Amino acid sequence: MECTRCGACCVAPDIAALDKPLGVRCPHLTADNLCSVYDRRPDVCRAYGADEVCRLIEAPTLEERVSKYLALFELTDEATAIRERGCSSMRKARRG
Ligand code: SF4
Ligand code: SF4
Repeated sequence: MECTRCGACCVAPDIAALDKPLGVRCPHLTADNLCSVYDRRPDVCRAYGADEVCRLIEAPTLEERVSKYLALFELTDEATAIRERGCSSMRKARRG
């Protein structure tokens, strides 16, 4: 499976090294779905590779792909709660 740079794996999962909650776009992800800190991205991002999940979550929009990812891992409710509550660390990261 080749990475199509769909962006979903930089939005859907929670990434502790970045203090990034579920379903929240990584602040380092550019509008073209590229990593703006590629040379210094965390190990967990380095270790991540395209796999079967990428095919299972294929959809026309990033939003749909993220939804499918969260549903696949049964994380939809948790992600919704985080979105509704807001995430102060991400707000701070975006301002930075
Ligand atoms: S979800 Fe898969 S195809 Fe999409 S950017 Fe990540 S590795 Fe690439
Ligand atoms: S640091 Fe880069 S590779 Fe890691 S989630 Fe953010 S944009 Fe994606």
